[in-house]
Amino acid sequence: MSHSRLAQRVLDIAESPTLAVDARAKALAAAGVDVVGFGAGEPDFATPRHIVDAAAAAASDPRLHHYTPAPGLPELRTAVAAKTRRDSGFEVEPNQVLVSNGGKHALYNAFMSVVGPGDDVLLPAPYWVSYPELIKLAGGRVVTLPTSEATGFRVTPGQLERAATSATKLLVFVSPSNPTGAVYTPEEVRAIGEWAAERGIWVITDEIYEHLTYGDARFSSMPVIVPGLADRCIVVNGVAKTYAMTGWRVGWIIGPLDVIAAATALQSHATSNVSNIAQAAALAALTGDLDAVRAMREAFDRRRTTMTKLLNDIPGVTCHEPLGAFYCFPFFEDRLREPIRGRSVRTTLELAEVVLEDARVAIVPGEAFGAPGYVRLSYALADDDLVEGVERLSELLS
Ligand code: PLP
Repeated sequence: MSHSRLAQRVLDIAESPTLAVDARAKALAAAGVDVVGFGAGEPDFATPRHIVDAAAAAASDPRLHHYTPAPGLPELRTAVAAKTRRDSGFEVEPNQVLVSNGGKHALYNAFMSVVGPGDDVLLPAPYWVSYPELIKLAGGRVVTLPTSEATGFRVTPGQLERAATSATKLLVFVSPSNPTGAVYTPEEVRAIGEWAAERGIWVITDEIYEHLTYGDARFSSMPVIVPGLADRCIVVNGVAKTYAMTGWRVGWIIGPLDVIAAATALQSHATSNVSNIAQAAALAALTGDLDAVRAMREAFDRRRTTMTKLLNDIPGVTCHEPLGAFYCFPFFEDRLREPIRGRSVRTTLELAEVVLEDARVAIVPGEAFGAPGYVRLSYALADDDLVEGVERLSELLS
């Protein structure tokens, strides 16, 4: 008999630290404090007009006032398949798509459907905050694989091979990466995909930042480059980052039919279908053009350059150039060897507190991503705010 009030599975996980930082910054702002928030993982732009209009029309359509099939509106699943063909070249059928409440819920369904007790999951670090908690919720064991700037925060097949055992069920792969901004080359994607296919290891590949790459970096989709992996590969994607639709909560997985059937059964009991209004908005997004994301990408690219330079100008701080997504991931540990305004600050966790209190700037400490010593700053905010925020940081630390 269990004596604790709460179930062990929730006692074993922590609240999302990025959402917590963002909530704290938003609460301070609501209380009239002038905070610059680098914490949020979301575009600062409004959702494009034609998408909002589609949602407004959907809200007035009585046909959409009822349940849809649990895996999503048939036309949306068809649109996801068509969009995937268009953007990554992966040929899939609509019945290989399960529409969920955001990429996060899609990941939850994916992990719950293929990972269980006794399964090890390889997770390259620095990792996005939710992966370890989702793996634990599914009953799996997290095996982190540290990476550093020296390898551009990318794992190699050699590293994977050294970490794999007979208990290894799955690899989590994300490119472009949150929090590091790393983008794997097609050759690297091939090498990792071939390794996984040969080893019979599943891959969840998170493609949510597919459209946000800069310079010469290009997104490439693992099951396209390594078709032999498709039977053990689950693609995760969504509208949040591409169309500035984080609040609409629409994401999906694409996978083999047995996974989709299992994950659909799971979702049918947990949440049923995603809100019809949000599905109609996602349909408009996916069947429309990519003009809005091109404009956003340009703005992010500009801010990326500015922020990387300004951060590298702070003594004791080094920031590699991110090639994708919308985060800088600088190294602050060298700066922590010296006191900050007479105070000894030993960790980036403490640094984030001091920075919020003294400089009114919200940043996410690397500890949240399994990478102490680093800090994540989103550059998805207005150019002026970005400069102001990094200047405040610089003033505090110089
Ligand atoms: N995957 C990665 C790597 C992310 O950074 C995020 C959001 O921050 C998600 C998935 C989930 O996105 P959403 O649930 O908003 O669709």
